[in-house]
Amino acid sequence: MKHTLADLAEALAAQSANAPEDEADLLHFYHRLFALLAQQQAALELDLSKHLADFSRKQWLRSGEPALRFEWLGLAPSTFHPWVEQVAALLRERVPECQAPTPEESVELAARYYHDNTTGKGAAMDALMQSALTPWLWEAAAQLTPHLPLDEWLRGYCPVCGGFPDFEVIVSNKWRRLLCERCAAEWRFPNGVCPFCGEDSPDMLGFYTTEDEVYRIDVCDACGSYIKGVDSRRFEGTLNAVLERFLTPGLDYSAVEQGYTRPEAFEDFAEGDET
Ligand SMILES: [Zn+2]
Ligand SMILES: [Zn+2]
Repeated sequence: MKHTLADLAEALAAQSANAPEDEADLLHFYHRLFALLAQQQAALELDLSKHLADFSRKQWLRSGEPALRFEWLGLAPSTFHPWVEQVAALLRERVPECQAPTPEESVELAARYYHDNTTGKGAAMDALMQSALTPWLWEAAAQLTPHLPLDEWLRGYCPVCGGFPDFEVIVSNKWRRLLCERCAAEWRFPNGVCPFCGEDSPDMLGFYTTEDEVYRIDVCDACGSYIKGVDSRRFEGTLNAVLERFLTPGLDYSAVEQGYTRPEAFEDFAEGDET
């Protein structure tokens, strides 16, 4: 399924209009954030087709190296920094300690976030860099995924940008689809394996569902991670996975309450050397 930032911004607006008061504020904030990100995506001049010309799918599958290279995004401090400041100004409404880095640091921190999934400068800076990069990463995923055999990837991290999945859609007894928290690429992954550490022993894996068995949290006792999601076989209506992430903070609370966490830095889950 193809996700666009403009569609997500619109869906968030509709949800915030119908939400109970205590949820409406946050959804409205997300709507404004994603409307800003969508506007930036529309203004991007990113053309990855020249990189696709000599892209080897075989090599991509064998090496397990995500398809996108940070350099391909073509970020320059002179244009990227003012954008980071704009995003920071909006995020400060919710995260008062959110400050833009210096112009010299902006691209460098974006690169560090891209490669390590953390800037090393705290949660507020990580959130800023994730949001600031979102227009580029969604655009890159939109351009690259039509050329990638995503169903053959079968790894727990994103085939496009290497990000962690933060939402799953169960499609059958055997398979689910994972959604990248950074670029929203979707790919196929088996049930019964932890996407984060590869654990596959049933003794170490479990899941909880809501009473109606529509929503669920899969947990791993080997690495302590969880992923939330939805069982598409029980979901009624049209499922919009990128939207559902924002509508289900309760699943995160309950996973955290039970002692599970979301993975943060890539290095915490460094894979064995496969070369
Ligand atoms: Zn991704
Ligand atoms: Zn695990």
